[in-house]
Amino acid sequence: MSEYSISQLGTFEECALQYKLNYVDKIKRYEEGVEAFLGQRFHEAMEWLYKERAFRIVPLEELLAYYEKKWDEKWHAEVKISRKERTSDDYRVMGRRFIEDYYKRHHPFDEGRVLGLERYIRFPLAEGSHYNCKGIIDRLVLAPDGAFEIHDYKTGSSLPEQTDLDADRQLGLYQIGVQTLWPKAKEVRLVWHLVAFDLEMRSRRTPEALEELRCEIASLIDRIEAEREFAPHESKLCDWCPYWDLCPAKKHLVKVEALPKERWKDEPGVRIVDAYAERWRKKRELEVEAKTVEGELEEIREAAIEFAQKEGVQVIAGTDARLRVTGKERVISPAKGSKEREALEQELRAAGVWDEVAMLDPSALERAVAEGRWTGDVLDRIKAYISTERRYTLTLKE
Ligand code: SF4
Repeated sequence: MSEYSISQLGTFEECALQYKLNYVDKIKRYEEGVEAFLGQRFHEAMEWLYKERAFRIVPLEELLAYYEKKWDEKWHAEVKISRKERTSDDYRVMGRRFIEDYYKRHHPFDEGRVLGLERYIRFPLAEGSHYNCKGIIDRLVLAPDGAFEIHDYKTGSSLPEQTDLDADRQLGLYQIGVQTLWPKAKEVRLVWHLVAFDLEMRSRRTPEALEELRCEIASLIDRIEAEREFAPHESKLCDWCPYWDLCPAKKHLVKVEALPKERWKDEPGVRIVDAYAERWRKKRELEVEAKTVEGELEEIREAAIEFAQKEGVQVIAGTDARLRVTGKERVISPAKGSKEREALEQELRAAGVWDEVAMLDPSALERAVAEGRWTGDVLDRIKAYISTERRYTLTLKE
């Protein structure tokens, strides 16, 4: 039976190709961002603090020493620091500050009974689902009033708004899991520790909100299971993606950047792009020039029409050319989408002459087919007359 975690679902929404490489092809990568590395170390320190709490209160200095020890033990060459002006030490010290702040705010760590630490949960999203959802709850707590609390540590540097947390899928899904696995959990509270801000934020879910979330996740899973193409989707998150060498949007960059700069010119792809870029820039210069000339022609055109009207001539003589000025009445239809256009179409239909002026709009047909607007018999009948071809668009980024 397949299983889905919230991060898995989020990855699919961000980039289907990254999802495939990670979760379908299971290509392991050890590269991680320093922010994720810091988050892991913070989580470890909290897990240890609360584990020990069953026996004693760990002094702050000992907790910080534990954090530092894990930081050194686990640091590896694949930890990526994308902000060039920062060092690993900056992040290590930042993590220390998060621990100090948390420690001072929550000491002596007796806000309820701990039911689970880094607790793995697996549960069906709905009765009869052919897949399970899974996740790891940072800390599951039984509050003094009997409510279950799902605690989550966030070490990120962006402060979410209350509305973001009220719509947060991760803890919402965990609540569905907790209430499935422990039906005694009638009352559940969701708690975020935003340690970069020394702030705690909370949220609750109504049964209706949970049902809506359940449907949303089920339809996303259906989309994943029906997906065949797994196309790459570039975004700012590519900076944290470890699959550049396998991604069609990035792998040539990786290949070229691995070459010494003096060999770039000999690389076949580089040669194509350089040639394309040169012609493209030339075309752009010519277009600017053409626009200026078009403006000048328009002015002269108006002068010629005025001259022809004033002089009552159709042909104007030049030194080595003649200019013919011809006038012709044109019918102008109301703009597409306007009320007048709609009324005109109705008139034409009513007069029984619509077929004489209506035409197939190939772009509208292409859009309708691509968006899957028609299905079944209609689509089958249309498909007998149309064919498909792959069209390529080149976009030059300077
Ligand atoms: S580099 Fe970007 S587009 Fe390519 S797989 Fe990774 S996230 Fe997707």
